[in-house]
Amino acid sequence: MIYRNSGNYFRPLVAGAETKVPLANGKFVTAINFDNAATTPPLHAVLQEISHFAPWYASVHRGRGYKSILTSELYERAREVVKGYVKADKSDVVIFTKNTTESINMLAYALSPGGKEQVVLSTDMEHLANDLPWRDKFTVDYVSLTRSGRLSVKDLEAKLKAYGGKVILVTVTGASNVTGYINPIAKVARLAHKYGAKILVDGAQWVPHTSVDMKPCSSPEHIDYLTFSAHKMYAPFGAGVLIGPQATFASNIPVYQGGGAVGLVSHEYIEWDDPPAKCEAGTPNMIGVLALITAIETLSKLNINDIHTYERGLIDYAIDGLRSIPGINLYSSRDGSEARVSLISFTMEGLHHSQIAEILSQEAGIAVRNGLFCAHPYVEKLLKLTKKEIKYYQTYDDKTIPGLVRMSFGIYNTYQEIDIFYKLLCHVARNRN
Ligand code: PLP
Repeated sequence: MIYRNSGNYFRPLVAGAETKVPLANGKFVTAINFDNAATTPPLHAVLQEISHFAPWYASVHRGRGYKSILTSELYERAREVVKGYVKADKSDVVIFTKNTTESINMLAYALSPGGKEQVVLSTDMEHLANDLPWRDKFTVDYVSLTRSGRLSVKDLEAKLKAYGGKVILVTVTGASNVTGYINPIAKVARLAHKYGAKILVDGAQWVPHTSVDMKPCSSPEHIDYLTFSAHKMYAPFGAGVLIGPQATFASNIPVYQGGGAVGLVSHEYIEWDDPPAKCEAGTPNMIGVLALITAIETLSKLNINDIHTYERGLIDYAIDGLRSIPGINLYSSRDGSEARVSLISFTMEGLHHSQIAEILSQEAGIAVRNGLFCAHPYVEKLLKLTKKEIKYYQTYDDKTIPGLVRMSFGIYNTYQEIDIFYKLLCHVARNRN
């Protein structure tokens, strides 16, 4: 593998990139974090902004004190920053949640009064956050995969046709947390709208790595609903986002009820506020929201397209390295032209995924994720597990349960780190029993 000293001007912007961690032999090395799809460390700018703001922290929409007004204005401005970042339609509202999972649950609840008569089309490649919330409230069907594990647009159209107008929502990930594939969202949106459905994009792995454009309501490629999590984009302080038309949240009773979501209340009467306030009962996470918009403003200044290009270079380099190691199976392709984010999953013949993850951590301080990545059906399909094998999951333990190893990059990762990973993995491959 050719050593490539690219230099990385993003790296100094991220806190903790040079943290030392212990190895099995007691020595300390600089930690290598290849688990950014799970969560990312904070940007220095985020930490700085939070500490500047902390003395001014006050209640949101609760008081007439100077600090309260300042905090409330900042909170409302944050909605505009988020909208601008993903080019949401003017009529959309931004609801602050705690993460993508809560956002999707909230949307499922808001759409649920129509009941099981309504069909939701999810897909075989979803994170459980974009699968389980739909199951008990709607008739759910799953768009299948192509042979290479990508979303089958052909099957999507066939299913939309077959359900004859009953599909109210197509819900799909923008980018997979298992293969890194970016889905053809514009195409999916066009098809969903052609058959009278709306589209939700789970942006948890998409928004942090690519430029996202929800497009105006008038466009057939408009994204009706979008969700994402701040902790996956360098702002790990507990904020999430749900964007969609105000009307969706206007008619029914909100899932969380309490102060901040209402106008006047008596024992006999509740006057619900308009969304988004109606959907944000209780004191909101101002620090998390400030962290999120600071991250957004920083990523915007850096230019998300440059970030995508840099991360794409890293992942292509890593994939080329992995491909050259005997016994490695990759679970997504690299033909150079496909749209993808900076993560890849693999297995090594003769070694359990948990062993690989452990060796990487103990021998070189490299953090990866291993297992099923909360996308069980997708991983089961990629591993071609039989129904019987899936059924007997319960009999497996941590050392035998099926799964993959995933490496996922952030802006601060380097080619040199990949070289350390590659060298160790070559050594492991050579010394397998
Ligand atoms: N969707 C995808 C594609 C994800 O990768 C994740 C988290 O890994 C989620 C949803 C859930 O995100 P959160 O845990 O922030 O709710």
